[in-house]
Amino acid sequence: DFKLSKKGLEISPSVTLEITAKAKAMKDAGIDVVSFGAGEPDFNTPKNIQKEGIRAIEEGLTRYTPASGIVELKKAICEKLHKENNLEYKPSNIIVSSGAKHSIYNTLMAILNPGDEVIVAVPYWVSYPELIKISGGNPVYIETKEENDFKFTISDLDHVLTHNTKAIILNSPSNPTGSIYSEEELKAIADWAVKNNIFVISDEIYERLVYDGEKHISIASFNEDIKNLTIVINGMSKAYAMTGWRIGYTAAHEDIIKVMSNLQSHTTSNPCSMSQYASVEGLLGDQSSVEDMKKHFEERRNYMADTINSIKGLSCRKPKGAFYIMVNYTQLLGKTVKGITINSSLDFAKLLLEEGKVAVIPGIAFGDDKYIRLSYATSMENIKKGLGRIKEIVE
Ligand code: PLP
Repeated sequence: DFKLSKKGLEISPSVTLEITAKAKAMKDAGIDVVSFGAGEPDFNTPKNIQKEGIRAIEEGLTRYTPASGIVELKKAICEKLHKENNLEYKPSNIIVSSGAKHSIYNTLMAILNPGDEVIVAVPYWVSYPELIKISGGNPVYIETKEENDFKFTISDLDHVLTHNTKAIILNSPSNPTGSIYSEEELKAIADWAVKNNIFVISDEIYERLVYDGEKHISIASFNEDIKNLTIVINGMSKAYAMTGWRIGYTAAHEDIIKVMSNLQSHTTSNPCSMSQYASVEGLLGDQSSVEDMKKHFEERRNYMADTINSIKGLSCRKPKGAFYIMVNYTQLLGKTVKGITINSSLDFAKLLLEEGKVAVIPGIAFGDDKYIRLSYATSMENIKKGLGRIKEIVE
């Protein structure tokens, strides 16, 4: 009977919790579970980056930093954005936060008023809708189609546009679908956003993990108009295997960055000091480990996608980026295996876990019940073993 906040009570628990908690309990009980649930690289942070973190600790760089981040890191981010993304920013356009999730939260808190709408494509990354709700906004969904590589179109955007539309979230490459928007598609979205004066929150956290020779393009790079409306989100977690260091960053118009910095100064203060020094090395130092990790991810993706498509009853598109595959299981709907009838992605995930000892994330967590999500941020050995088990259950 506690009188808790309406806002707090509106936030959903993670649908994936049941599955991941169960997988962990099984592992703890000594059961050999293969997990395809990972949302982080299975590699260690590269040595050169580790060393900089250690150096920062040893040199006493262990105190508060400026709330929006150290100037060395802001400069490194500007240099990176210039070299890799063809974007010109000054340190005053940058705020460093405690992970890209925190960057998105600060962004939404800075731009949303109660009732403002933010357009989100389904399947979405689990945190977008909840972050929008926490910030007082309303998520508005666009259902995408597998045939269109899970990408929304301009006509989809026109369909959901209202006087309350404040922003769209663009996540290319995408978690969970791995899709990448082409230059033409991005240009069309940019024109639409400029025409309607809508912010684009461009979550580019998976930009380095693109395959088949694809190239990531930042939507902010086309012209000044779209650059002014774009809030570029990125971070160290995925490209540099630094999920635990908690460093994300935002590049945007100074007016937006100022509000975000003020907010951050009263909530989390600065992001972790030594992580910031390590991140400077990450962005400016030797990039060969990123390329090496990417090579592994691409090999695993190829093997996983080909194997899934060889299993009767399952299918998938070969994703172009990130490290996830959305597996369509709808041919299995209504079938009963080992006493479990498959009526939903939760049922299928439950069957795979309980009977196959394989943990996957049910698509409902991303707003689309027709799929399960498999992560290939795990060893080839695990992938072979896990897919073998799935094949056995399904066929
Ligand atoms: N954006 C997307 C699409 C993600 O998948 C993730 C992590 O899973 C994040 C942002 C946040 O990453 P971090 O907060 O570790 O920087």
